[in-house]
Amino acid sequence: MKIKNFKEFDSLSTPCVIFVGPPGCGKGTQAEILCKKTHLKHVSTGDILRKSDDEEVKELMKTGKLLPDDLVSKELEKFIQKNKKSAGFVFDGYPRNLKQKTLLDKIMSNNNLETINIFFLDVPEETLKERIKERGKTSGRADDNDPEVFKVRMGEYKDQTLPLIKSMKKLKNFLEISGEKDLDEVTEIIFDNLGEI
Ligand code: AMP
Repeated sequence: MKIKNFKEFDSLSTPCVIFVGPPGCGKGTQAEILCKKTHLKHVSTGDILRKSDDEEVKELMKTGKLLPDDLVSKELEKFIQKNKKSAGFVFDGYPRNLKQKTLLDKIMSNNNLETINIFFLDVPEETLKERIKERGKTSGRADDNDPEVFKVRMGEYKDQTLPLIKSMKKLKNFLEISGEKDLDEVTEIIFDNLGEI
């Protein structure tokens, strides 16, 4: 890992790392570890939305469906604006489809952000199902505790997120990692491949 010593010029872009993958693949955990070990800011759209007071948002989140792209993108941009002094961002849970990637590209160019790495953590569905069931015992998340909601989340992932992942695979800063490996091993691969931040 190379860390820029200081921002020499204001025009220097702000580095960002994107995590993508199915629900329960470990992207939230790895994003947190990365942020703890660096000076980057964790951006979890799931966490941002869970703090919303909007009853409609709360109800929709319980179903496992993705929320409207414009709503999530506005929340994301607000978060970035509020934290614009951060040395960089780690996106966890955004973008989740092709439209969101286009919106993110706009947000990034408006805010002088640059994608350094895209990490795709892939895990077989059966393992994800078990992990989410386990996580549900302590997460307190309604969407972790219902096998039917898991099916909806996986459906959204396959329909919306997989086409996005497919389109990003050709990018040179894209790396697929098996999320079935030990947590520490995944972290090591991430740090071994991390660009200059
Ligand atoms: P997560 O914490 O990433 O598992 O997200 C929990 C829920 O928040 C998802 O099932 C969606 O309902 C909603 N959500 C989070 N991120 C997004 C996003 N980028 N686009 C649409 N909905 C999202």
